[in-house]
Amino acid sequence: MKIGIDLGGTKTEGILIDSAGKELKRERIKTEKNYNGSIKGILSIVKNFENSFGDVESIGIGMPGAISADTALIKNANSIWLNGKPLKKDLEKILNRKINLENDANCFALSEAVDGGGKGYKVVFGVIIGTGTGGGISIDKQVLRGVNRISGEWGHVTLPNRTDDEKKFVKKCYCGKDGCMETYVSGPGFANCFNLRFGKDYDSHQIIEGFKNNDTDCILALNLYVDHLARGLSLVCNILDPDVIVLGGGMSNIDFIYENINTALQKYVFTDNLHTKVVKNVHGDSSGVRGAAWLS
Ligand SMILES: [Zn+2]
Repeated sequence: MKIGIDLGGTKTEGILIDSAGKELKRERIKTEKNYNGSIKGILSIVKNFENSFGDVESIGIGMPGAISADTALIKNANSIWLNGKPLKKDLEKILNRKINLENDANCFALSEAVDGGGKGYKVVFGVIIGTGTGGGISIDKQVLRGVNRISGEWGHVTLPNRTDDEKKFVKKCYCGKDGCMETYVSGPGFANCFNLRFGKDYDSHQIIEGFKNNDTDCILALNLYVDHLARGLSLVCNILDPDVIVLGGGMSNIDFIYENINTALQKYVFTDNLHTKVVKNVHGDSSGVRGAAWLS
């Protein structure tokens, strides 16, 4: 049995799975927005599972951010109370065993590679297009971390070949750079671009609703969205050349993407016949906990 825990900004979710990936138990608690409280939440989930089912083989935790390669402290987490803290070390000390700690987008990629949309493929690129934009790489069902622990951080590369309009109708990224993929293909980014271009005040759901009702602005916006996604993913294809790209996050539920992305991607990737498939995730919101459990 394995425990996976997804330490989110608002909730901490735990799952207990057997070696075949069957879910035995799940628990969800509110995340306390301080370091000691977050640790307590994790410990209570582990204790509850082990009290009911016995000792587990491994414990994995997915969280926003990464463990610094230099200091082993948490960095880049939007749950800011974790930044600068030795979370892995502290948990290992309290639980007296090895803990696997990993970025949540990497957990998503791993989960989908093991038994989700990327099952059976060697190189899987997992993409989160939700409130933010992130990515992770799994090769042979192992997370590729990278020397700087930023492998797959695709949200903060610049959209290739930006037109004057695309430079004009976009908000600056919170990371300080201009033109990041996140500012075009995250849910809020998509809505911001639309609102700046058309002088409206829609959220992403309203644009999709408009698209379904044949609103011409919304139709244009969705076509542009797929083109932006394809241009960004073409960089990934040219460098990593993955077998499959699995999409997750709220924006991944748009069917129009899957109907059009492969044709769009074919235009931009440096190859004759593109074999990379772009597919929807299988495990949805559960990929965070499942991927954490599969960590080794
Ligand atoms: Zn950025």
